[in-house]
Formats: sequence, structure tokens, C-alpha cells
Amino acid sequence: MAEQTFIMIKPDGVQRGLVAEVIARFEKKGFTLRGLKLQNVEQAFAEKHYEDLSSKPFFHGLVHYIISGPVVAMVWEGKSVVTTGRTIIGATNPAQSAPGTIRGDYAIDIGRNVIHGSDSVESAQKEIALWFPEGTVQWKSSLHPWINEQ
Ligand code: UDP
Ligand code: MG
Repeated sequence: MAEQTFIMIKPDGVQRGLVAEVIARFEKKGFTLRGLKLQNVEQAFAEKHYEDLSSKPFFHGLVHYIISGPVVAMVWEGKSVVTTGRTIIGATNPAQSAPGTIRGDYAIDIGRNVIHGSDSVESAQKEIALWFPEGTVQWKSSLHPWINEQ
């Protein structure tokens, strides 16, 4: 199966009207959209998504941030999409994110950094299973050979 990553536009990104902008960056890069939904998340669900960070001092604030409004959950597919997705997103702290990245262009504060992206293939699989238990859409873009050599 081709590599997949889980991308989430956080509540600040949705409130600020950045949904189309974020989607456009992944789409124009050439990645394939496999799943997409707008949803509010429960506190327990947000805690599960960020369970690896539960001992961090910012955990409580992070969970409240994520449940403060609807988020857009997505699955994107393509060669090295996990690593390249993180590059498109930029560093965790927007102050260290290069211009041209999503966080570098659209965020200032680490606690309002617009977007989440899986940090490894393994966490992507875990996050996709958590957010898309119903599965994702099977399809192959007709542009595939124009974007991928093979
Ligand atoms: N975060 C925060 N303060 C910190 C570190 C992280 O508020 O000092 C938030 C921030 O929104 C970040 C999220 O917690 O995106 C998850 O942290 P992680 O280290 O996994 O960063 P990411 O993978 O999102 O770049
Ligand atoms: Mg992370």
C-alpha cells in the first residue's frame, strides 16, 4: 500500500478560513486525498490522539485547544508523504518554521499552530485507524503517471 499520513487542520485553522489553503498545498504538491471530514472532537478523543504527550505540561491546554471548535481530518497518500507532509507543515514552533511552510506563513504561537501531521509511518497508521475507523476512499488519480515516474 502507498504511504499515507494523517493531517488535521486544527480549530484555529478552520476559524481563520485556512481550510482551502491547506488542502491546496497538499493537492498541488501531487498527493492524493483519501479521506476528508469536518468534525468536533470530544475531550476523551483528543486525549487519545495526543496520548504520547499526556505527561507534558502543555497537554491540558493542547486538549482544550483541539476541542475548542471543529477540525478538518484528512488522509493524504503518496511517496514519502509523512516526511514531506511535515516539511510542508513546518516546525512545531511557528517562530522556527521557515517562510513557505504552512506554520511559517500562517502562525505565530506554538499553541495556535494551525495544523497537525503524523510524525512517522507508524503514528500515521495509528492516527488513521483512530480518526477513520470507517476506512478511506479507494481511488487512483488519473494524474498519477504525470506526478510519479512509476
Ligand atoms: N505544543 C504546545 N507547546 C509545546 C509543544 C507543543 O502547545 O511546547 C502543542 C502544539 O500545538 C503541537 C502539539 O502540541 O503542534 C503537539 O506537539 P508535538 O511535539 O507532537 O508537535 P507537532 O508534531 O505538532 O509538530
Ligand atoms: Mg506530533
